[in-house]
Amino acid sequence: MKKISLLGATGSIGTQTLDIITQHPDRFELVAMSIGKNVKLGMELVHQFKPKLLSVLTRETFEQIKHEVPSSVKLSYGDEGLVEVATFSEADVLVNAVIGSVGLGPTLAAIEAGKTIAIANKETLVTAGHIVTQKAKEYGVSLLPVDSEHSAIFQCLQGEDIKKVSRLLVTASGGSFRDKRRDQLTNVTVADALNHPNWSMGAKITIDSATMMNKGLEVIEAHWLFDIPYDQIEVLLHKESIIHSMVEYVDGSVIAQLGTPDMRVPIQYALSYPDRLDFKKQERLNLWEVGKLHFNKPDFERYRCLKFAYEAGRSGGTMPTVLNAANEVAVAAFLENRITFLQIEDYIEQALENHQLVNKPSLETIIEVDQQTRRFVHSLMT
Ligand code: NDP
Ligand code: MG
Repeated sequence: MKKISLLGATGSIGTQTLDIITQHPDRFELVAMSIGKNVKLGMELVHQFKPKLLSVLTRETFEQIKHEVPSSVKLSYGDEGLVEVATFSEADVLVNAVIGSVGLGPTLAAIEAGKTIAIANKETLVTAGHIVTQKAKEYGVSLLPVDSEHSAIFQCLQGEDIKKVSRLLVTASGGSFRDKRRDQLTNVTVADALNHPNWSMGAKITIDSATMMNKGLEVIEAHWLFDIPYDQIEVLLHKESIIHSMVEYVDGSVIAQLGTPDMRVPIQYALSYPDRLDFKKQERLNLWEVGKLHFNKPDFERYRCLKFAYEAGRSGGTMPTVLNAANEVAVAAFLENRITFLQIEDYIEQALENHQLVNKPSLETIIEVDQQTRRFVHSLMT
């Protein structure tokens, strides 16, 4: 029986993680969870899963619900609450499914507490990859990928020597605007951008898919998770989202992982690893129904966010922190209809140009640069 603590229980990855836990009651048990603003769903989950610890976003929510929560559940809030969930003594595995660099502190705390981490929260790896991976090594903690591309690569690497890898081929669906030219993106709406052709995900990552920043973040995530140079990470447009990614070895063999697009498969693999469990709800892959698989090279001028991400990743230091923070602020503003779709990339570009790179930044520097960048991008909008 693995005991699980879950950050971001009310989100897209969070609720799918709970679905996996429900499907395998003899294997997994939820012991601690955090929620954000969705208190209604959060309370339903508390009654269904009976965790021993619940953390909410704010003190106001804490005060509002403290009499509704069963007495068997300890209630916390804020950043400290996230750390409490991440380090909950009974938990074996932390599933980090919060959105944004807010996941960094709890991830570092979980590593120090020796928890295995199933990591969906890619922004944490982008913003401070060198610190997170170094600390995980130091404490002998495993970081198991949840992101479908990274789970695919991880599966293709089983039993292999990472030193014999020549390239990682990360596939990309192209997002909601993949059939549009750049000049057709000027007036696209939030609703258009949220309409992803293959995957049903949270709002922020769906916008990131439309700008291709999601793939850029994933390139940086792959660099840190697999310790592979950027020159050996390639992005491949693959509109069917059937091949979730591939690994090419020095002898020219390419190993791929395939499946229908369902995040519960990589979530379950991260939880059951190194074992595999039945997944009865999974729609089986019928390649004769799919018929053809398509592949294209991405155009870096069409998908400028992908270019920015490679540049920020290669520059290293604080550049990925700036990339991520600027993107988080710009996407939130787009979702609130405060800026246009193409302004997302303009603001990210300006933030990157404005920043003086700091090499080998400490955690304090990263937190400072993250905050500075957020202020800078906000100032561009006023
Ligand atoms: P969602 O927006 O659906 O969920 C995010 C979760 O985090 C919710 O539980 C939300 O609470 C909580 N949350 C939001 N802001 C804060 C905050 N400031 N402090 C504490 N908790 C907060 O996101 P997704 O599930 O889509 O994505 C989660 C992570 O997984 C992201 O890093 C994403 O890139 C990654 N990922 C997601 C995939 C997907 O299919 N969705 C695929 C691959 C990776 P509430 O809803 O209660 O406000
Ligand atoms: Mg992905």
